[in-house]
Amino acid sequence: MIVRRLPYRGLINSHLRVHLKRPQGSRDMARPSSDLAAFREIFSQAKNIAIITGAGVSAESGVPTFRGAGGYWRKWQAQELASPEAFSRNPSRVWEFYHYRREVMLTKTPNPAHLAIAECQERLSRQGRTVTVVSQNVDELHRRAGSNDILEIHGSLFKTRCISCGHEAANYKSPICAALEGKGAPDPDTNDAQISVQDLPRCEHEGCHGLLRPAVVWFGENLDSDILTRAEKVLDSCDLCLVVGTSSVVYPAAMFAPQVAARGVPVAEFNMENTPATMKFKFHFHGPCGSTLPPALARHEAEQT
Ligand SMILES: [Zn+2]
Repeated sequence: MIVRRLPYRGLINSHLRVHLKRPQGSRDMARPSSDLAAFREIFSQAKNIAIITGAGVSAESGVPTFRGAGGYWRKWQAQELASPEAFSRNPSRVWEFYHYRREVMLTKTPNPAHLAIAECQERLSRQGRTVTVVSQNVDELHRRAGSNDILEIHGSLFKTRCISCGHEAANYKSPICAALEGKGAPDPDTNDAQISVQDLPRCEHEGCHGLLRPAVVWFGENLDSDILTRAEKVLDSCDLCLVVGTSSVVYPAAMFAPQVAARGVPVAEFNMENTPATMKFKFHFHGPCGSTLPPALARHEAEQT
């Protein structure tokens, strides 16, 4: 099997694409099973479950990604705005983009996939079992669905970080500052608001007043090493792993599940399509995860209480 391995620590770029080659003679390998009863049998015995989630889960709540065909905010896609260079060139424009995304989230709600994960997490915790969510999503829909053990490896739209003192804080203000009120319209003919940097969101920590930025991982930036270490720990100790709504081509999630599978631990993929990693997994459940996940995570007859 030919897999291009990337260093797990060190060079870390969340958006680096990893091309996992299909193994030669893959037709000889067992195809992943879509036997729900067989999955449920393993699920009923698992003590530590890791659930990796990606954009597909949010897409079912109508959350725009600003990537791919038609995914534009004004004239730009996410990769042109979500970078330290874009922010230092034009912090007002980048804040308009994030203000818009934050405000859009007020109109979105968790879908049955988020709710099934949260319900399963709560139910299994009462049985002394753990379910940890490792999410690439920045929209906090898992938290709003009621999940509490969430590792947000790409940060959150609702956290800010000061570029002067580094202080990070949760921030749910709407609008985030007076100058952004009514700004951020996505139409391509909208002019930049050109807000003065003094009027953009500013740090309130100990009179610092530095410029705030969204605490999300931008293109070209490293992941938070503490969160990554915690995610590795969860994935190293899980006895069942679910990969939900993610294409498994974006690092580091691309590495997580195949590494779990390589330990011989069952991995179940829930996705709209096959991914480059599908053949490595024990199970693949095809379709919208809002439909496939709730029956998979529902109470099993073998569960106590
Ligand atoms: Zn500060």
